[in-house]
Amino acid sequence: NREIHLASRPQGWPTEDNFRLVETEVPSPGPGQIVVRNQYISVDPYMRGRMNDVKSYVPPFALDAPLDGGAVGEVVAGEAEGVRPGDTVLHGLGWREYALLDARAARVVDPSLAPVAAYLGVLGMTGLTAYAGLLDVAAMKPGETVFVSGAAGAVGSMVGQIARLRGAGRVVGSAGSAAKVQRLRALGFDAAFDYHDGPVRDLLKEAAPDGVDVYFDNVGGEHLEAAISSLRLHGRAAICGMIAQYNDTEPAAAPHNLAMLIGKRLTLRGFLVSDFGHLREQFEQEVSGWLRDGTLSYDETVVDGIENAPSAFLGLLRGENLGKMLVRV
Ligand code: NDP
Repeated sequence: NREIHLASRPQGWPTEDNFRLVETEVPSPGPGQIVVRNQYISVDPYMRGRMNDVKSYVPPFALDAPLDGGAVGEVVAGEAEGVRPGDTVLHGLGWREYALLDARAARVVDPSLAPVAAYLGVLGMTGLTAYAGLLDVAAMKPGETVFVSGAAGAVGSMVGQIARLRGAGRVVGSAGSAAKVQRLRALGFDAAFDYHDGPVRDLLKEAAPDGVDVYFDNVGGEHLEAAISSLRLHGRAAICGMIAQYNDTEPAAAPHNLAMLIGKRLTLRGFLVSDFGHLREQFEQEVSGWLRDGTLSYDETVVDGIENAPSAFLGLLRGENLGKMLVRV
């Protein structure tokens, strides 16, 4: 069994030196436990926060211990109520080839309904984040103009498409390259821009000349400031992530314009997907319907080999992914 340990805590941008590949024995299950041969592991921006030794909504990763995170794989040993060898399960012990876990911490998924990797992305955590953030947290209504940052990523690409399918009037996205902007147009975004092409505030004004009703924030900083400027009276923002500042060592410089919240009666609401388990069934039904009829598409960027998980993570922070970043183990 090979697994990735956190060797040291990054200061600012992480590097390969912060990680270590470690070989261990393949574990054997005790009572109530199963061993899972991981097939795909999820690579997620929030992991950067867990590499710092600070109190947050999830505990920090320990040094010299394996990282963890979402994974899907096949049960190869152990048996407990509702789980048997051969089952495909979703669980939280990624970043290793073999995971030993309490059977109750695994959810059996049906590999005949969707490719197993989909349970980490479009039909999994990032899909539900998009669905809950857009429809519940920001309460998007048909006809409204929606702006989403990080729009070519796992969450953002779902936000834009769900907005379109739920009847948004105009969907605008921003991303970090011309190729990503092109992809957003193909996914049905009405307008898209590369945020490197000028001040985000100007690019957004051009893309949404009449302003926006809903902003889905994956990025923070200059994007959030621009969105606050463009939000209309009673506009809402779902604050999902602020990836532009995860590697910052100084407090963020933007937004400067929070006073606008008052006159425009804006609502900015942070949320965590873990609070929206009650929407999972509805989300799975609606999104799998769109997948079946071909009205929703999704991208995945797959890196092969557990030894390459650190570089996949660094690549995610640099924007090398289109859609969901995964490691095939
Ligand atoms: P993505 O697939 O969107 O990957 C991250 C992307 O962020 C990169 O591809 C890159 O794209 C973009 N990015 C990196 N640096 C910057 C920057 N300085 N400015 C603008 N964009 C940048 O990841 P996810 O879809 O998994 O996550 C998206 C966001 O949602 C993150 O902020 C994450 O923390 C958050 N999140 C929050 C959850 C919650 O419960 N609140 C749950 C899941 C995710 P580009 O090339 O466009 O720069």
